Amino acid sequence: MAESCDVVVVGAGLVGAAAALGIARSGRTVMLFERDRPVTQSGRFGMDIRNVAVSPASQKLLVDLGVWDGLQAAAFSGMQVWEEQGTASIEFTAATVARSELGWIVENGPTVDALWQALDKQDGVSLRLGESLEVVSGSTAGVRLQTSTAEYSAQLLIGIDGARSKVRELVGAELDVKPTGHHALATLIETELPHAGVAFQKFLLDGPLALLPTCQPNVSAVVWSQNEASARARQSLAGDAFCDEIGAASEYKLGKVRCVDERAVFPLAQQLVKHFNPVPGVLLLGDAAHVLHPLAGLGVNVGFEDVRALLRRLAMIPLDVDAGQAGLWRSFARQRRTRSQIMLGLMAGFRSVYAQNDPLLQWARNVGVGWLNRTPAIKRQLMKEALGLGPLAQRL
Ligand SMILES: Cc1cc2nc3c(=O)[nH]c(=O)nc-3n(C[C@H](O)[C@H](O)[C@H](O)COP(=O)(O)OP(=O)(O)OC[C@H]3O[C@@H](n4cnc5c(N)ncnc54)[C@H](O)[C@@H]3O)c2cc1C
Repeated sequence: MAESCDVVVVGAGLVGAAAALGIARSGRTVMLFERDRPVTQSGRFGMDIRNVAVSPASQKLLVDLGVWDGLQAAAFSGMQVWEEQGTASIEFTAATVARSELGWIVENGPTVDALWQALDKQDGVSLRLGESLEVVSGSTAGVRLQTSTAEYSAQLLIGIDGARSKVRELVGAELDVKPTGHHALATLIETELPHAGVAFQKFLLDGPLALLPTCQPNVSAVVWSQNEASARARQSLAGDAFCDEIGAASEYKLGKVRCVDERAVFPLAQQLVKHFNPVPGVLLLGDAAHVLHPLAGLGVNVGFEDVRALLRRLAMIPLDVDAGQAGLWRSFARQRRTRSQIMLGLMAGFRSVYAQNDPLLQWARNVGVGWLNRTPAIKRQLMKEALGLGPLAQRL
C-alpha cells in the first residue's frame, strides 16, 4: 500500500525547504524528501563561506514564512559596478528606488537551518531522509513515487532537488544546458577598510569578481567567476599571495586584503528545463528548473519567486480540490519559464558583452554604461526588476 499525502517535495535546500513550509502552512500535507539533515559549516570568521544576496521580494517571503527574524542578515544599500578595461562605472543606491536597502546578504547554511527548524515545528510535514528515488510517474489520476524502500502517492510532486535534479531525470524532462566556461571561487576576506554596506562588482575580462558585504564590517564574501584553471590555481595559492591578488584585482576598493578563509570552487553552467510541468502532476522549480550565472546574484531569488508564485496559485485551489489536476499548472509553468528565460538571457548578454576585448565594443560599453548611470528613469526600472519589485517580476 502506497503512503499518501497532498504534495511531495523533493529537495530541502533554500528553495525546497521554503516551498515545503509554505505549502504546509496553506493546509496541505507535505512529504519532504532530502538526502540528509543539513550541516552548517563555519570557517575562520565564524561564518559560512557561501553567502547569497537576497532581494526585497525574497526577504518578504522569508518574513512571511516566519524565519527572517532569526537570521543574521547584512543589509546593503549601495552597489558599484565597473570593468577592468573601461572608464565608466555605474552606482546603484537604495535611494534611487526610494528604499533604505537594495537587499541583504545571508549565509547559506544558517538560512537553510532556519527553514529546517521551522519545518520541524510545522504540522503536516513529514520528512523522509536518505531514500533513493527510483521511479516518478505522473498522470491525471495522481503521482506515484517509488524509492529504494517504499512507494508513495500524491496529488502533486515538486522536484526542487538542485541543478542535477533526479526528479528531472526520472520524468525525462528535456534540459537546455549552456556552458559558461566559468567556475566560481567562493570565500570570505577580511579587508583593511570597512565595506560600509556596499557591494562591489568588477567585470574582469576573464569573468566578474563580486565582493559582498557581510554582517562583520571588515569581512566581505567573494564570488569570483573565471575559467577553471585560474579558479583552481587561485584556490591553491598561499593565503598571503591570494590576498595580494584579490586586493589588486579589486583595485583596493576596500584597502589591503588582510586574510582569507577556506576557498571553494563551483562549476557554473546556465541551464533551463524545457517544461516546468513536464508530466501531469509534476513540477520542477528552483535550480532543478533554471540555473543562472551568479554574476547578478539572482539564482535563489528567481527560485524564491517560483515559490511565491506557487503559493499564490495553490491559494486559489480549494483544499478539497485535487491540486494536481490537469490544466491547473500549465499557465503557471509557462509564466515561470518565461521569467527564467528572460533572466538567463540577461545574464548571457552581460557575460558576453563584458568578455569582449574589442576596442569598439569597449567604447560602446563605456558610452552605454555612462548613459545608463546618468538616466535615472531607466536605471530605476532596471533596479526594480532586479529587486523583484518591477512589473515583470510581479506578473510572471
Ligand atoms: C558561488 C555561487 C554564488 C551564488 N550567489 C548567489 C546570490 O548571491 N544570490 C542568489 O540569488 N543566488 C546565488 N547563487 C545561486 C543559488 O545558490 C542557487 O540558485 C540556490 O542555492 C538554488 O537553491 P535550490 O534549493 O533550488 O537548490 P540546492 O540549493 O541545490 O538544493 C537542492 C537540494 O536537493 C537535495 N537533493 C538533491 N538530490 C536529491 C535527491 N535525489 N533526493 C533528495 N534530495 C535531493 C540536495 O541535497 C539539496 O539540499 C549562487 C550560486 C553559486 C554557485
